[in-house]
Amino acid sequence: MSAAAVATETGARLAAAEGLNATLHWSQASLDAEARRVDTLAGGSLRGMPIALKDNIVTADAPTTCASHILEGYVSPYDATAVTRLRAAGALIAAKTNMDEFAMGSSTEHSAFGRVRHPLDPSRVPGGSSGGSAALVAAGVVPAALGSETGGSVRQPASFCGVVGVKPSYGRVSRFGLVAFGSSLDCISVFGRSVDDASKVLATMSGHDPLDRTTLERAPMVAPAPRRDLAGVRIGLPREYFPADLDSGVAAALEHTKAAARQLGAELVDVSLPNSPYAVPTYYIVAPAEAAANLARYDGVRYGPRNVGPAGDIQALYQATRGQGFGPEVQRRILVGTYVLSAGYYEAYYGKAQRMRARIADDFRRAFAGGVDLLLTPTTPTPAFRAGEKTADPVSMYLADIFVCAISLAGLPALSLPVGRSEGLPVGAQLIAPFFEDERMLAAAAALERVVNAEAEVR
Ligand code: GLN
Repeated sequence: MSAAAVATETGARLAAAEGLNATLHWSQASLDAEARRVDTLAGGSLRGMPIALKDNIVTADAPTTCASHILEGYVSPYDATAVTRLRAAGALIAAKTNMDEFAMGSSTEHSAFGRVRHPLDPSRVPGGSSGGSAALVAAGVVPAALGSETGGSVRQPASFCGVVGVKPSYGRVSRFGLVAFGSSLDCISVFGRSVDDASKVLATMSGHDPLDRTTLERAPMVAPAPRRDLAGVRIGLPREYFPADLDSGVAAALEHTKAAARQLGAELVDVSLPNSPYAVPTYYIVAPAEAAANLARYDGVRYGPRNVGPAGDIQALYQATRGQGFGPEVQRRILVGTYVLSAGYYEAYYGKAQRMRARIADDFRRAFAGGVDLLLTPTTPTPAFRAGEKTADPVSMYLADIFVCAISLAGLPALSLPVGRSEGLPVGAQLIAPFFEDERMLAAAAALERVVNAEAEVR
């Protein structure tokens, strides 16, 4: 197909998928402009591939709102480094996708612009916070999309929607142009229909960026050749991730995945990550603390709409702008984050959480040092839940991240692979690798992908 034909086809698919509410901005005119730009390139590893972006990744040719009223109408003066690299490789940026406001949430229900529908069942959520990107890939609108991870926001929706979701090691992909949530956790991450597609997109974006000093000065990632088998691979099963009360569909899908891994020659071993019970409470101190600091910049002066307030002084301007611009979940995070950082509480909350974060990272180091190459766990405790089920109780929403957020605290690479369906809804399995061993994880996932039937009912 010509790039122009891809642009036309993608526009038709985006229009047909409007009912999902998965996009916040796209236009046929900008798709056509992308096609004309791609035609001027000499080559490119992603030539002609349409890719959607979560709306917290900035682009100079479209708004970036983070699904928040506080950034309505904001257009960045530059492209994120990841986007610059994708464009240079020939990708067409197709759309900006709906998400939980400022990436805070696990369902997209915290979007200021309404929730995304799960492509297989509109009464359910696609997961979050990168739910719009996950839904577009699952619905076959685009072959790949970018999301962001602070604590599972790509792996969890990938699992709910039945697509591949890959979070790289922290520091492999530049955060320049990713709107900051928790700077020590944030990673641009990828959804794909296959491991190979996701690997190629990730490899294209990866590598040192002088504009983000937390990117590692090592060679960029090379999309690994898929493994044919898993002979000689030792896979650890952290026992804390297989609780007795695990959802029966998720448990059955994981049994099916373990059998596939054994059949490919892998050796499965029991391991322990003893600090796992503290991952959610630790994450929900560290992430809001960093968010409270990062979101201080939305003051009605530097970005977006301004509300001067009744008194007309600067304090009233801040209060009116932030009070109306931020939704309830974002305000809750700012309050929690400010509290845990405040004098007198810092040691009891933030300091303690930082020490626990080090222990959680050490759990993973010990497991890998004990001789396992990868870890295998469920990605989510249940398949996609119904809209409205968890909005009344924030903690129940936070618990949707129970299997994904420890890995973010440890900075490790991890992915979710679709491995079966339970009552028609997709279930994902999570593979976790040691730091900077993203390629090992992707090569093994490609072998598993070939033998598990992700469309099959697991019971
Ligand atoms: N659900 C988590 C949260 O609400 C993760 C978010 C993310 O990874 N961006 O913070």
